Amino acid sequence: MNKAGILVVGNEILDGITLDTNTQWLINKLKPMNYTISETITVRDDTTEIAKAINRMMDDDIGLIITTGGLGPTYDDLTLKGVAEAFGLPMTINPVALSIVTRQYKAFHESGVVDSPEITDARRKMAVFPVGAKPLDNKAGGAPGVMLRWEGAIIVSLPGVPSELKWIFDNPLKPILADRVEGCYTEKIINLSARDESMLAPLIDEANKLEPDVYIKSMVKSMVNNDKGYVIRLWISCHGEEMEEIQVKVDKVSDFLVDLAEKTLT
Ligand code: ATP
Repeated sequence: MNKAGILVVGNEILDGITLDTNTQWLINKLKPMNYTISETITVRDDTTEIAKAINRMMDDDIGLIITTGGLGPTYDDLTLKGVAEAFGLPMTINPVALSIVTRQYKAFHESGVVDSPEITDARRKMAVFPVGAKPLDNKAGGAPGVMLRWEGAIIVSLPGVPSELKWIFDNPLKPILADRVEGCYTEKIINLSARDESMLAPLIDEANKLEPDVYIKSMVKSMVNNDKGYVIRLWISCHGEEMEEIQVKVDKVSDFLVDLAEKTLT
C-alpha cells in the first residue's frame, strides 16, 4: 500500500484560531494519485513533539510524510529542527535554498511587498535545512519546501500558508510523488432514496459480495433532497492495477445498489 501521513504543525490550529484546511486539500490531491492517507497528526510548535510524530509515522511504515506549517522566519517555526531531531541530523545552510529565498525577497522588494531585499538572519533561517535535505522551489512565498529521503521514505515539509503549500505541491512536488506510486484509484458518490441507514445495511452486504475489492461507505447523515425526499449518500471506491478495471467494478457496484434500492426500498 502507498501509505502517506500528514503532520500539521501549529499552535494556531490547536488553539482554534486557524481551521486546518491544508490536510483536506492534501488528501484530495494524494487520493487520486493512489496514496492512502493512513494517519494525520497535529502537534504544537515544539521540536520534540514534531520529532516524535515523525518517528511514530516512520515506525508505522509510512512511506510519504508531509508536514505543513512552521517553515517561516520566526523563532517558533520549528518544523525543520523537528525533522532534524527525528533523524539525528545536524542543520546547515542549503545554498540552493538560499538562492530561492534571495530570489523571492528580491522579487517581493521589486513589487513593493517588502521594504528591503536584504537577507537578514530571519530570512536566512528559511534556508537552514537538515543535512541531506533538498529544497522544493516556492514562487508563491519566501520559504522553500523541503524534501528529505530517508531509508526508502520521503519526508516533505511545506509552508502553512495554503497558497504556498498548493503552489509547491502542484509544481515541483507532484511529479516526484507521482513517480513513487503504483496502481490507481477511483471513487464515485451516489445518492439512494432512503431515510433509514439500517435498511441499507443488507443491500451493502450484497454489494460487498459482488465485488469484495470495492469499498462502500454510507454517509451517516440523511439529507433532505427536495425532489426525491430523503436520500443517503454512498461513497464507493476501489484501488487496483488498471484504471479501466476498477472503474468497471465501481460502476457495477453502484448500478447494482441503485437497482436493488429501487426494488426493495421504494
Ligand atoms: P510563514 O512563512 O508565513 O511563517 P509557515 O510555514 O511558518 O509560513 P505558519 O506560520 O505555520 O506557516 O502559518 C502561516 C499561516 O498559514 C497561518 O497563520 C495560517 O493562516 C495558515 N495556516 C497554517 N497552517 C494551516 C493549515 N493547516 N490549514 C490552513 N491554514 C494554515
